[in-house]
Amino acid sequence: MIAKKDIRNLADIVGEDYFSSEMFMTSLYSHDIAALPGIVNDVLNPNAEAVAQPTTTEVVSNLLKYCKQHNLPIVPRGHGTSGYGGALPARGGVVVEMTRLNEVHHIDKSNMTVEVGSGIIWGKLIEELEDEGLTVAAYPSSAPSSTVGGWVAAGGSGIGSTKYGGIAEQVVDLEVVLPDGEVIRTKDTSEEHFKIETKGHFFRGDDSFFTDLSDNAVYDTDSTQLFVGSNGALGIITKVVLKIIPLRHIKPTTSSFRSQNLMVGALQDILEATRPFYLHFITDKFYDMLKEVNQAPPTMGGFIISCAFEGTDDEIETEIEKLKHIVSRYSGSVESKEVSEHEWSERFYPMRIKRLGPSLAPSEVYVPLENLDGYLNHMNKHFRNENFALEGAITDRGEVAVLTWFPDDERRRISFLMGWYRSLDVINLGLKHGGRAYSIGMWNAAHSRSFYGKENYAKMSDLKRKTDKKGYLNSHKVFAGPLVLSTRLNVLIMLIAGIVAPIVIWLAGIIVPSIIQAYVPWIFVNDPTSFLIWFIVGLFAGFAVSEFANLLPISVVLSIGTPFLRLGRRIFH
Ligand SMILES: Cc1cc2nc3c(=O)[nH]c(=O)nc-3n(C[C@H](O)[C@H](O)[C@H](O)COP(=O)(O)OP(=O)(O)OC[C@H]3O[C@@H](n4cnc5c(N)ncnc54)[C@H](O)[C@@H]3O)c2cc1C
Repeated sequence: MIAKKDIRNLADIVGEDYFSSEMFMTSLYSHDIAALPGIVNDVLNPNAEAVAQPTTTEVVSNLLKYCKQHNLPIVPRGHGTSGYGGALPARGGVVVEMTRLNEVHHIDKSNMTVEVGSGIIWGKLIEELEDEGLTVAAYPSSAPSSTVGGWVAAGGSGIGSTKYGGIAEQVVDLEVVLPDGEVIRTKDTSEEHFKIETKGHFFRGDDSFFTDLSDNAVYDTDSTQLFVGSNGALGIITKVVLKIIPLRHIKPTTSSFRSQNLMVGALQDILEATRPFYLHFITDKFYDMLKEVNQAPPTMGGFIISCAFEGTDDEIETEIEKLKHIVSRYSGSVESKEVSEHEWSERFYPMRIKRLGPSLAPSEVYVPLENLDGYLNHMNKHFRNENFALEGAITDRGEVAVLTWFPDDERRRISFLMGWYRSLDVINLGLKHGGRAYSIGMWNAAHSRSFYGKENYAKMSDLKRKTDKKGYLNSHKVFAGPLVLSTRLNVLIMLIAGIVAPIVIWLAGIIVPSIIQAYVPWIFVNDPTSFLIWFIVGLFAGFAVSEFANLLPISVVLSIGTPFLRLGRRIFH
């Protein structure tokens, strides 16, 4: 609980106009895009106590210094469009929304980079660059509303990633405020604890683009990649320098197929033979749901590939010719210009099917393209009793970012809670097919070590220990944290244990009196005093249970709980 004095001091640091502890503000900043089961919300109680919207790096630095000194939890947030719990205030405290740091600081046309405030929305940045005949190499499909810093912190791939890689490949330099308030530039950090292992060269996209980037990224002194995908657990990103490219003509082409394996075969050949800017698919179930919400284009088949090529008209036409051959080899149909343009414009709106819910439970995992068919078959079998839509985007590494949507209804509290197993199973099935977690955030922090790689994770932990031992900056993200049950729940557990203990003893005395008298005669409940004594013992036992629960990492609880959720879902759904 933040004391009134701290609220006043924080408002002074940020400025009255950009700080609020009013309920109408704090409740807006206590969730992200994913609907959290109501019971989980009650248990974890991720409630922001104050919201700050800093306007300069200096304010961010002062805010962090104050919070560290007074041990107040602090959580960076872009626009809250992620769904992995990364932006949730797991321990309450101050949510720092970065959207007021939204300037385009400098466009460097000779080095082809742009420096922006981390809170700028992708859509706005793209518009400003287009005025200069330039653009970004890749952007998330949430670009109309998500921030540049948010995607850098969350990591991942998006539109353009088939050719230019994920966000990691776009970032050249960052300005980061460390938990102790120190401001650093990641491109030039020579201290030992910032060094990070060079990533392997998996890149299959535009080589010239990649070469430029790796020239910039001399990892001995460049710690940029340490902060990409670190979910705000290591520092708050205030400025981002991104690689940019000349604005080029883009032409989308949609094709459809009658079966999954034909579509997957075509995807593999397209990636092998051409260099698409964007390569994306939806399966027939997604198509059927789009039909239900009147958003499905008229196509020959229900398995749809959307592809976009970039370049001169001649380059694009050559690529489209190759694509047409591949599509006909797999008995598919190249759809009309109207359908292609419709699909391209829909790339920003994957959540149209939410209307079928009214809630949507998403889950995402990377799977190697060569294992996609097996993974999809496994998913269909595993979730045969569930309604789900599935889409995927192919990256430069030959991986598929597979996104599964489960339409659901969060108002059905028990059934919705039990359905949580699906998100975890989607990832676990992906891992079985040679995949890896898509993003980390809070819920899948158990995968952090394999996600970041052992050595890099050790470096991140080391840096966290050195700069934020108590974990006040975005705790529970990346580094799995304990449950931290809400006070209400702690008290409830104690009371239940206090009431249950004397009742159990009393019943035991009735049901098996001879055993009790022979072995533990002193435990009888037969008068108000003994009832009171056992009530107090129960309270202590309840306290011990809730303290023990408070030690368990959320990700461990989720792993242990998954089979029970799965079973419960069968019963309650
Ligand atoms: C319709 C839709 C489409 C999407 N498409 C994609 C996609 O194509 N690819 C993809 O990868 N994801 C996608 N996402 C997920 C999400 O939009 C992205 O991860 C997005 O980039 C997050 O940006 P944000 O500004 O909303 O960040 P938030 O959700 O607010 O934050 C994300 C994480 O970053 C941290 N953070 C935010 N800002 C900062 C900062 N300045 N410094 C340090 N830490 C910070 C937060 O604490 C949190 O851990 C999509 C989501 C939706 C709803």
